[in-house]
Amino acid sequence: MRIGIVGGGIAGLTAGHRLAAAGHDVTLFEAESELGGQAGTFPIAGTRLERFYHHLFHSDTTVLDLIEELGLGDRMVWNENRAGYLYGGHVYDLATPLDLLRFGPLPFHARIILGLQTLWLQQFGDWRKLEKLTAKEWVLKHGPRSIYDVVWGALLQSKFGDYADQVSMAWLLTKIQVRRSSNREFGETLGYMMGSFQLLIDALGHSIEEHGGQVHLSSPVERVLIENGRIQGLAVRKADDLREHRFDAVIMTVGSPVVLRIAPDLPEELRSLLASQVYQGAQVMVLELNSSLVPYYWLSVPEPGIPFVVTLEHTNFVREEHYQGRRIVYIGSYLSPDHPQYALSQEELLALYTPYLQQLNPDFAPSWVIHSWLFRDPYGQPIITPNYSTQMPPHLTGIEGLYLANTTQIYPEDRGINYAVLLGNTIATIVQGGEARASNRW
Ligand SMILES: Cc1cc2nc3c(=O)[nH]c(=O)nc-3n(C[C@H](O)[C@H](O)[C@H](O)COP(=O)(O)OP(=O)(O)OC[C@H]3O[C@@H](n4cnc5c(N)ncnc54)[C@H](O)[C@@H]3O)c2cc1C
Repeated sequence: MRIGIVGGGIAGLTAGHRLAAAGHDVTLFEAESELGGQAGTFPIAGTRLERFYHHLFHSDTTVLDLIEELGLGDRMVWNENRAGYLYGGHVYDLATPLDLLRFGPLPFHARIILGLQTLWLQQFGDWRKLEKLTAKEWVLKHGPRSIYDVVWGALLQSKFGDYADQVSMAWLLTKIQVRRSSNREFGETLGYMMGSFQLLIDALGHSIEEHGGQVHLSSPVERVLIENGRIQGLAVRKADDLREHRFDAVIMTVGSPVVLRIAPDLPEELRSLLASQVYQGAQVMVLELNSSLVPYYWLSVPEPGIPFVVTLEHTNFVREEHYQGRRIVYIGSYLSPDHPQYALSQEELLALYTPYLQQLNPDFAPSWVIHSWLFRDPYGQPIITPNYSTQMPPHLTGIEGLYLANTTQIYPEDRGINYAVLLGNTIATIVQGGEARASNRW
């Protein structure tokens, strides 16, 4: 079968790897000049690093199996997550149950209830029982208001902004359950691939080519060609050249707004489902510093008024000697693409951040910054609302030979590399006429 794949992120690459290995004639088109999508990397301090911070949980077994399969298992390391939480201008350790017991912003009885709630949710069996509720409704119903105001509500607000009140309890439940797998007595350990997840991206791209497939970079798909309810091919731009390629099957792994743009001939029912989906954009600045900013890897900053919601000092997770002794810090926000910050340049944004970085470390000065980079993705985080199982778009588009596999089809888990691999495996099975598992947990 001649198969075209739209998008060279982890889902498209995994599908391409599986289908090419199964003997199909695969051609993958990626709009950017490099593969990887949201998991893509850039050169820094003599090595490469993810543009958006990345780590794995122990429950991410699908991608861990793939990493083993590709002979990269020895590159995985599991390091402690030093986690902190900024509240009321003060930074608290928040990595272990003992830290929670000492967490001053919550009254003591609320700390105990939060701990018990978390334990209970970690064991909770069927997410379907909670999917009708918003996270806000569930948290307010099952504990004192302070737990919502200080912890869950603040975190939801920082990730989802105006949509915070609409996020499904199924989303929060599975977030809590996924993290359980990474808990150790002394806190949490998270996985990272030494040399960056670029190794995985490269191995998948090479596999497609070694099996006779083709990978085209800087090649945005402009149109999905459909005739009489059947896929015909793709119209792809390469520099000034717009060329048509014929395929028996096409897999689209791009965000739903891109699907709507390139495939205007989809059935109306699917188009309106895709049009109803909402994403938060991700905006991440990476700073290469000559000194450490904070003693944490993951520092949640859910304070209204601070123009970012998290800092991740990567070199408190993977030691700085792997980065020529430099300190590397991500500063992350989730914003709707019409937010005024989205229009700021890198210099303007760094100037905006500086006084707040000085709140985290009064010694911080702009002169610490050796290099900085700014990355944005308008489809960073799909917003999962109650009863999402009834609104999730299907893999079969209603057009013969045309398939959809994007981050809005990961549920009840949250999007992540593991689920992008699972999506790639799933869609490769479906394209070949097989039954697919929708999840590796349920
Ligand atoms: C801020 C942030 C932090 C994250 N942290 C983690 C983490 O810690 N751990 C984890 O496991 N996951 C994390 N993720 C999620 C993870 O990176 C994604 O779930 C995964 O990479 C998605 O892969 P994908 O292939 O489904 O989509 P994408 O990566 O979005 O791939 C889609 C590809 O399609 C391309 N494309 C777009 N339009 C066209 C077109 N017209 N023609 C051709 N190509 C096109 C894009 O350039 C892109 O390469 C994070 C994501 C973000 C944004």
